[in-house]
Amino acid sequence: MKSNNGKRCAARVLRVIGIVLTILVWGQTLAASAGQQTLTVDMRSRVAIPDAEGQFRVTCEKQQWDPDETAIIICDMWNQHWCRGATNRVAELAPVMNDVVSTARDKGVLIVHAPSGTIDHYENHPARRTATEAPRAAGLPEGFKSWCRWKDDAEKTVGYPIDHSDGGCDCRPTCKQGSPWTAQIGIIEIEEEDAISDSGVEVWNLLEARDIDNVILMGVHTNMCVLGRPFGLRNMANAGKNVVLMRDMTDTMYNSRMAPKVSHFTGTDFVVEHVEQYVCPTITSTVFTGEPAFRFQDDKRPLVVFLSAESEYKAVETLPGFARELELEHGLDCEILQASTQKRGEERHTISGMEILTDADLVVVFARRRGFQTDQMKYLRDFLDRGGPLIGLRTASHAFDSRGSAPKGHDEWPTFDPEVLGGNYHGHYGAGPVVTVTATAGAIRHPILRGVELPLLTNGSLYKAGPLTSTTQLLLIGTIPDQPPEPVAWTNRYKNSRTFYTSLGHPDDFKNPQFRKLLTNVVFWAMDEE
Ligand SMILES: [Zn+2]
Repeated sequence: MKSNNGKRCAARVLRVIGIVLTILVWGQTLAASAGQQTLTVDMRSRVAIPDAEGQFRVTCEKQQWDPDETAIIICDMWNQHWCRGATNRVAELAPVMNDVVSTARDKGVLIVHAPSGTIDHYENHPARRTATEAPRAAGLPEGFKSWCRWKDDAEKTVGYPIDHSDGGCDCRPTCKQGSPWTAQIGIIEIEEEDAISDSGVEVWNLLEARDIDNVILMGVHTNMCVLGRPFGLRNMANAGKNVVLMRDMTDTMYNSRMAPKVSHFTGTDFVVEHVEQYVCPTITSTVFTGEPAFRFQDDKRPLVVFLSAESEYKAVETLPGFARELELEHGLDCEILQASTQKRGEERHTISGMEILTDADLVVVFARRRGFQTDQMKYLRDFLDRGGPLIGLRTASHAFDSRGSAPKGHDEWPTFDPEVLGGNYHGHYGAGPVVTVTATAGAIRHPILRGVELPLLTNGSLYKAGPLTSTTQLLLIGTIPDQPPEPVAWTNRYKNSRTFYTSLGHPDDFKNPQFRKLLTNVVFWAMDEE
């Protein structure tokens, strides 16, 4: 009896487990399909730093969007432009854009094709009728019938970051201006459920009829039509739409022989920054593709990615200025991945956008006590495994050691300091005494110190960083009165990666041209470029 009872009991337990498992699997399936319904959007903006004219900090905000309340507007992706270079770049961009758009459409996003001035070509297309037949919205915001030259006085006062007064043709010989476009480039498919319009009024009617609040602008050219058209970024922002620019699905009309005389693609980046500063946030196509952001084939600029995640030394304010200097004066492409600067809470242990490391030539880490998601950290580990060079600034010695404050399952790397950087951080001296930084005898001729005037004085407290591992080469030491000297900067090798670390990085250091010179040397040394 006992054993029979036991069997029945066991059978009942198994049945209950079975039911519970079924419910769990069913619940997860439901959750997964519900998950597909929302878009997780990483929106990047730039916010003015108080009392620092012309300086901005990067801020990132994650939002969940309902695809049914989202539209993509494709601006002026014509079959032919008067500029050969512009025509070629549109042709290169179009197939990728088509993939992005079809994924978005499948998720339920409304696609509006806006090849301005060629709408007659689509007279009998069902997607054209969708636009003309949209019911008239109750109120049309001011300005939607016309071009918007500036969003507001703040944008007007600062003006454009590039000079496109010559029309922006980069070609030799220069192309003759005109209007050769007759339709949207064919490779971007137009489906029956899409809409076709170049009218601000029609587009507004479409958005209002469908309760669409989230608007993604893509296409060309950011510094002209994408910003200024009746359905463009400025009007949408002023009308209160949750509008963003998809910054890797665009191009500019910019001639790199005009001010500020930077690469065509740096010109585009500067306009994107301008948008983030004065008009609206930006996103990348990664939201739909899961792939790194699109880059043009001719964009040969080395890509430097800054991983900014600390709240002690204002990296959020100092890195954008330094990155801008590298772009403006040294032809590099810089991207800043800015994590939360909160001192507490789980949010500080999340980061997004790390997939860009797939294409990066150098990573600069200025992070402190974070434990990021494993799927994001994988990109950093992969980057190092393929020999990518890394620079660590100040708190980078304890960048990925959250001391248990990160959520379970996140990827901590407490041995990052000895393993990757070759250091041995164990606290720092008190703030106060100015640290005198000098070169070691063997380092005077090292390319990293070329042209750097020493000694360098710093207000940052002296880090206790020694002894270093045997694979390092010590370059700079720091001294304060009555204490033994400490290593302040050195190079190391991790697997096949060149690495460099300095405990410098205090906000005052970034104001010191000698420090910026040093750091610029490091950037080129790390990438093995002159
Ligand atoms: Zn041209």
